[in-house]
Amino acid sequence: WTTAPPTLRDLFRIAQGHRDKTFVVYRDERVTFAGFARAATALAHALAAAGIGKGDRVAIALRNLPEWPVCYYGALLAGAIATPLNAWWTGPELAYALQHSGARVLIADGARFERIAPHLAECPALERIFVTRMEPDDRATPLSAVIGPVADWAALPDRSPPDIALDPEDDATLFYTSGTTGRPKGAVGTHRAAATTVMAYPYSASRSALRRGETPPRPDPSAPQRAALLVIPLFHVTGCHASLGAALYGGHRLVMMHRWDAVEALDLIDREGCTGAGGVPTIAWQLATAAREAGRPLPSLESVTYGGAPAAGDLVRALGEAFPKAIPATGWGMTETSATFTHHQGEDYLAHPESCGPPLPVCEVRILDPLGQDLPPGSVGELCVKGPNLVRGYWDDPAATAEVFSEGWLRTGDLARADDESFLTIVDRIKDMLIRGGENIYCCEVENALYAHPDVIDAVVLPVPHPTLGEEPGAIVALAEGARTGPEEIRAFAAERLAAFKVPVRVVVWDGLLPRNPAGKILRASLRTVFAETSAQNGSPS
Ligand code: ATP
Ligand code: MG
Repeated sequence: WTTAPPTLRDLFRIAQGHRDKTFVVYRDERVTFAGFARAATALAHALAAAGIGKGDRVAIALRNLPEWPVCYYGALLAGAIATPLNAWWTGPELAYALQHSGARVLIADGARFERIAPHLAECPALERIFVTRMEPDDRATPLSAVIGPVADWAALPDRSPPDIALDPEDDATLFYTSGTTGRPKGAVGTHRAAATTVMAYPYSASRSALRRGETPPRPDPSAPQRAALLVIPLFHVTGCHASLGAALYGGHRLVMMHRWDAVEALDLIDREGCTGAGGVPTIAWQLATAAREAGRPLPSLESVTYGGAPAAGDLVRALGEAFPKAIPATGWGMTETSATFTHHQGEDYLAHPESCGPPLPVCEVRILDPLGQDLPPGSVGELCVKGPNLVRGYWDDPAATAEVFSEGWLRTGDLARADDESFLTIVDRIKDMLIRGGENIYCCEVENALYAHPDVIDAVVLPVPHPTLGEEPGAIVALAEGARTGPEEIRAFAAERLAAFKVPVRVVVWDGLLPRNPAGKILRASLRTVFAETSAQNGSPS
């Protein structure tokens, strides 16, 4: 693919080359790259034999399991559009995505099938259902009838995938956005977009050294196989393109966790000799805290990587204390950018802890004012992005597509500034920004000031309606166990760090951690009701 853009089938071929190395570890199940490739090929043939081909949607409703990558590639190798569904969704939410995508095939695990089953009549396009990890059900075919049990995948016949002409510009994936600002949008991406994002990533990891005029270290062929603890769900682009893609490309082992638990994560990292871990910022915080409390610096860890949600600058310092030998790395991206769009690590990250790094080498950025004019470095405006890793638009929604995609550029809805060296800093989402009597308040900035308080472990800033100012900032915070800090002390702490108009007029202490979606983002919409009534009585700052 040096002369033609890549497809995901090229990535599949690269993965096949890792043969008998372990690819997935899940509880006591272990799958090799060869076993994965044979199972995916067998599924692709079964789908093709059932008449599934170019452009058909194959929905995947599985939690992180060894079957996930097999189903994803089974769909792709049949020429279909792999359509991962959020495993946390309820029955009606799953049914909505099945209707919206018009999927002809659904592959589900027991828990997801149970949720969808009462809604099957609402999904008329659905012709075939394959299920795994559940008792037989006459509405569905066991996946094992097609690809055998996990333990036997390596013994399946070594066949070529179905002979289907795949073009880099063909649709490959339909991922749903996290639904942080509204109903999830179906972002449909081409083979070229998905394959580019995976293959541009290894270069960007070397860039920090190149920038300093150093030779990036080459992987030592005699070093043990790299292994990543996989915590983030594969149904999000970061899990699928960044974690799974990197493992397929580089021949790394993916150690899947059944359910997130920081102490169990420490054990797994030690047992499997994981070289990488991370996910979203909250996970990285919890991992660092658990490791420090247990006095376990996890010597195998070479990097801790996270992104997808704002990360306070303190996180990189906390990681340095917990894991002195691991390189911290972060990035910014969207479902629409096929995961990682910027990458930031090591020395560069320590020197710019608020930034999410420069764009990948194949990408371009602009920062625009509300009239669409380019802003100079240092100014805050809407981040607009361009590159071969962008999806082509929203499925079956030309109006929503036209609203943000134009001439190769995507308006991200995020506010950011860039410095002279293209280091980007995300300031807030436009939709989250508050306007208090004409003054912009970036919620992220206020949240970071609150996070600086040693007792605050979670924080969100939301609008409190005000009759004349429009809105003012209010904060909901979660405190460390046993902490006795009161709302007034937190307000006073914020007042030392922020201009008066940015100081939350109300602080509510939340019981337990704030609710988040699987992408690590606080469910702001569900918390807005906390400040639903007016704040006029709350002594606002003048
Ligand atoms: P929806 O589009 O459905 O409202 P969403 O935007 O949260 O949901 P995703 O595509 O998963 O769905 O997330 C992309 C968004 O996540 C970005 O637009 C940005 O607001 C946020 N984000 C991602 N990475 C970072 C980061 N490093 N720092 C701050 N915010 C980030
Ligand atoms: Mg979005």
